[in-house]
Amino acid sequence: PFEVLIIGGGPAGAAAGVYTARKGFRTGIAAERFGGQLQDTLGIENLPGTAYTEGPKLSDNLKSQVLDNQIDLIDLARATELRPASEAGGLHEIAFANGAVLKSRSLVIATGARWRNLGVLGEAEYRNKGVAYCPHCDGPLFKGKRIAVIGGGNSGVEAAIDLAKIVGHVTLIEYDSKLRADEVLQRKLKSLANVDIVTNGQTTEVTGDGKRVNGLVLKDRESGEERRIDLEGVFVQIGLVPNTEWLAESGLELSRFGEIITDEHGATNKPGIFAAGDATIVPDKQIVIAMGEGAKAGLGAFDYLIRNEPA
Ligand code: FAD
Repeated sequence: PFEVLIIGGGPAGAAAGVYTARKGFRTGIAAERFGGQLQDTLGIENLPGTAYTEGPKLSDNLKSQVLDNQIDLIDLARATELRPASEAGGLHEIAFANGAVLKSRSLVIATGARWRNLGVLGEAEYRNKGVAYCPHCDGPLFKGKRIAVIGGGNSGVEAAIDLAKIVGHVTLIEYDSKLRADEVLQRKLKSLANVDIVTNGQTTEVTGDGKRVNGLVLKDRESGEERRIDLEGVFVQIGLVPNTEWLAESGLELSRFGEIITDEHGATNKPGIFAAGDATIVPDKQIVIAMGEGAKAGLGAFDYLIRNEPA
């Protein structure tokens, strides 16, 4: 069995593994797709100490570091079930889609999250070519340009307020008849001169010239009328879904959004099981944060292991 088994090979899982392996613990990382969201990311300009890198390159760097630290990397392995140890200090079990079962004295769950997609024509085609999901990451690429933010919840309205400082013009589009963001955010948004707010708006298509986004098609859900808006960017802010569906029966405590609840050491409600990164309640979903949280969870597992030596 492993001393530390990490489920998920994104920035959080890789960081956790590097920390526990360097403490001398037998560490494994099992991931459906090593690199996680990094594999879908083009430019990264907000990782402190690295002026510019690209997701797949950062993922390759993490992979070499993982392998250099003698971590067992089990790629293309999708966990389907967690069976926590029945007694403190016992072995936890993870079952995988291919039928394999791995055992470990401690676990770090770092299965990340995925952006909810609109699912309309053009969205996938123009991803990273004008269609964006992360305002902190990609906002500066749209300096002075016209953009839309889709989604009138807290994340959409926050994104619109944030982006309005950088871009030329923002159209905020909400599907419902009213915004759902906190009142104070709505008030701030409405005070901004370069923001238009559309409610009852259904985005039916993202259009482009074959290379980049050049507009979107908006349908008024009341009148049924369709119109085109010319713009250069579309930020989709309709939710981030944690990859925790497979934990439903595990007894791990999840928030109402399905995020794993952890304490300040990354510990879950089950002894010896830690969690980190976008799959948890950590409020900000960013690479540097996932790495930091992963390191914390790794150190949490270290602390647990030295206090719970096997008989
Ligand atoms: P993830 O990166 O989501 O990794 C999760 C890992 O778990 C993957 O290996 C996945 O395959 C695996 N996994 C999931 N389910 C299972 C399962 N059941 N069994 C086994 N393995 C599983 N952040 C920034 O700081 N700067 C940026 O510029 C930036 N740009 C971004 C651009 C895009 C397009 C996207 C999508 C995100 C961007 N982010 C950016 C956010 C950043 O990528 C995430 O915050 C970060 O990757 C989270 O790391 P994580 O390790 O928690 O999860």
